[in-house]
Amino acid sequence: MKLGLLGKNIGYSLSPLLHRTLGQLSEIDISYDLIDFATIDLKDGQSYMDYCLDNRYDGLNVTIPLKLEMRSFLEETSIEVSKIGAVNTLNLQEQKIQGYNTDFFALKRLIKEKLGPFKPGDQFLIAGAGGFAKAAAYALGEVDELEVFVVNRTFEKAIELADELSDFGIEANAIDQRILYSANTYVDGLMNATPIGMGESLEMPFDIRLIKEAKWAIESIYTPQNTMFLNTAIQSNCKYISGLEILFHQGCSSFEIWTGREINREKAWQAFNQALQF
Ligand code: NAP
Repeated sequence: MKLGLLGKNIGYSLSPLLHRTLGQLSEIDISYDLIDFATIDLKDGQSYMDYCLDNRYDGLNVTIPLKLEMRSFLEETSIEVSKIGAVNTLNLQEQKIQGYNTDFFALKRLIKEKLGPFKPGDQFLIAGAGGFAKAAAYALGEVDELEVFVVNRTFEKAIELADELSDFGIEANAIDQRILYSANTYVDGLMNATPIGMGESLEMPFDIRLIKEAKWAIESIYTPQNTMFLNTAIQSNCKYISGLEILFHQGCSSFEIWTGREINREKAWQAFNQALQF
């Protein structure tokens, strides 16, 4: 089975390692290529789609900056992609190009398994308003009791996302970054859906006081696995979801879509962590 990741500057990605591990566990012969915008000279989304079809890929993951653009090539759109507007998994094996958003599946599953219990009026603050923040906002929005707040470098995008969520009946508001530093601000849950804290950076997306007072934390970054934000949240006894767990579960769901095989997540998580040691 010929699989790959489509995106730009994706040399850091752990998806090839994850999918090879899942292939071994399922005894399915797979290849998983990095199809990198930065190294393959193609001009737009259409050229990428043509390249993947010409090279007979069976399935693709899609990441920055193509998650929104690739949606226009879908011939069958899942419910979550219609809502979120971003696609991260393409299935090219059927007559029609099918698209899914397995980031959403991963977050829904992990929120249920690892956070909560929730009660009416609990508040969750998301930093970021890009493709991943959207998937997260819809997943959090499906927890009935939660009220979602969005903060973003470009405030207009935070307003746009909050308006979109409200149109779907999710209680959501955009808030100005300056409010995060006010002593009166408190939220139950925090999610980082920006690159703040990636690589060597010790920056955090939220004020330390907010993190120390929160009950739940979600980190999207997985390089490094323990960002300053995640470490601080763990030290403050928050229940948390790590970027690596999100990567793992979105990858398992993509793999299940492509192969039709169910993954034993516990066994696969152990195997993936072992593979990471080498
Ligand atoms: P995106 O669509 O490009 O959105 C990026 C968001 O981050 C935007 O809201 C942007 O604000 C904000 N941002 C970017 N640079 C910033 C900076 N220096 N300071 C403050 N805000 C900044 O990207 P995405 O797909 O949503 O991804 C967001 C994060 O999630 C990334 O770190 C990505 O690695 C991670 N992610 C993880 C997984 C996983 O499996 N663990 C999966 C997908 C994504 P503006 O609107 O102002 O530009």
